[in-house]
Amino acid sequence: MKKDKKDIRALSKEQLRDFFVTIGDKAFRGNQVYEWLWSKSAHNFEDMTNISKETRALLEENFVINHIKVDNMQRSNDGTIKNAVKLHDGFTVESVLIPTFSRTTACVSSQVGCSLDCKFCATAKLKRMRNLNPDEIYDQVVAIDRESRLYNNMPLSNIVFMGMGEPLMNYKNVLKSIEKITSPEGLGMSPKRITVSTSGVPKMIKKLADDEVKFNLAVSLHSAIDEVRTSIMPFNATFSLEDLKESLVYWYEKTKKRVTYEYLIWKDINDRQEDIDALVDFCKLIPCKVNIIEYNPIDDGEFQQASSEITDRYKDALENNQITVTVRRSRGKDIDAACGQLANKSAQD
Ligand code: SAH
Repeated sequence: MKKDKKDIRALSKEQLRDFFVTIGDKAFRGNQVYEWLWSKSAHNFEDMTNISKETRALLEENFVINHIKVDNMQRSNDGTIKNAVKLHDGFTVESVLIPTFSRTTACVSSQVGCSLDCKFCATAKLKRMRNLNPDEIYDQVVAIDRESRLYNNMPLSNIVFMGMGEPLMNYKNVLKSIEKITSPEGLGMSPKRITVSTSGVPKMIKKLADDEVKFNLAVSLHSAIDEVRTSIMPFNATFSLEDLKESLVYWYEKTKKRVTYEYLIWKDINDRQEDIDALVDFCKLIPCKVNIIEYNPIDDGEFQQASSEITDRYKDALENNQITVTVRRSRGKDIDAACGQLANKSAQD
């Protein structure tokens, strides 16, 4: 019966090797199966053509491969692709492929829903149902890479954890997925091309530093003033800017890697001179760069994108203080694939 079978991709290579030894086969068989599961991304045991029929039947009896299924793929005029991804237990998450002139980026989800309550984010409207497993994150990357090659003639070049969920609240599985994505036995991608984006969980930022991770860190800041930040990201009342700052200094001291701050600018929320001054001040803490993102409306107008003059004012102030800033235009809006819009419609209805 299916429910008694173990998820084979929860096993390490060593455990797979041990399994084959205990059934009287060679440990090496474990390596072969491991290769099928990860670098070849097999969906079922029958595909494992260098494994005997008997062994494949035995694997079938004992294990399952909980592969994701791309349920619905939408392509935008600008080349953006959005996948609605069905998980083995029926939940759906979304991932996005964003092609630009110089790179092809996969934006992947790390949780079903989200436990944080950012007022401007579509995913926040969904309750957090569960964490994704490492293989479910890995599969999203594999699916997007295939689509990128197929439709855009380009392999995937970058990955951002900016889909649904808060990656640092699914710390272990996110790190395991990155281990597999970067391993030569997985996809062999450079960690320099991977960015984990967090709303700012100080304790976990410090843990990343202690674990000496090699990927990039982005923090969704949106305001450098506690009262303002708490009003739009209520968890800031618990993880204050002071704690966030301390964790960022710790991160920089340990990793020597600059941090990216994601920043949205809204009318009547963070469009005052004091908001600009506070951000400039915040940016002096450690080497960093600022990404100003365009707001993608998710509801009936509680939040409104500030005018381009305000964006220019932010940009000038940062640049006058030698802080690198980029202003990013939104992509894939026509298919609700833009930043912060991922929520999967069926779950909302
Ligand atoms: N929880 C993580 C990753 C998911 S959100 C984080 O907070 O970083 C990915 C990015 O999209 C974040 O920078 C987030 O602030 C931003 N975002 C959320 N809602 C948005 C919206 N409606 N328009 C534009 N960006 C949004």
